[in-house]
Amino acid sequence: MTSSQKASLLSRFKTVKAMIVDIHREIMITLLNLVLQASIRTCIGCGRKRSKNELARFVLAGEKVVFDPAMRLPGRGVYICPAEECLLKGISAKALSRSFRRKIKPEIVSVLKSVMIK
Ligand SMILES: [Zn+2]
Repeated sequence: MTSSQKASLLSRFKTVKAMIVDIHREIMITLLNLVLQASIRTCIGCGRKRSKNELARFVLAGEKVVFDPAMRLPGRGVYICPAEECLLKGISAKALSRSFRRKIKPEIVSVLKSVMIK
């Protein structure tokens, strides 16, 4: 093998190596985004996206909507910023019915509202 053949082979090897590094980086970025997005939820009061930890979670337990401070109750959850403005908008029969995709009775909402908003 001549020295120019060696140099050409080495440069091709470097190109392939750089491509592998790029692919690896792309995969890592994609995985990281998936992990980050997994903990992002939308407040049903203001529509802003926030980390799940910064929001109050509510779940449907039978007919009732209950507050889930430990974030452990089973079922589909909805999220609301712990701010009065968002709670007022989010804890409404309309917003909750839309989010849970089923009719939420106004009387249940008024009980929840009285507990959550002082
Ligand atoms: Zn909000």
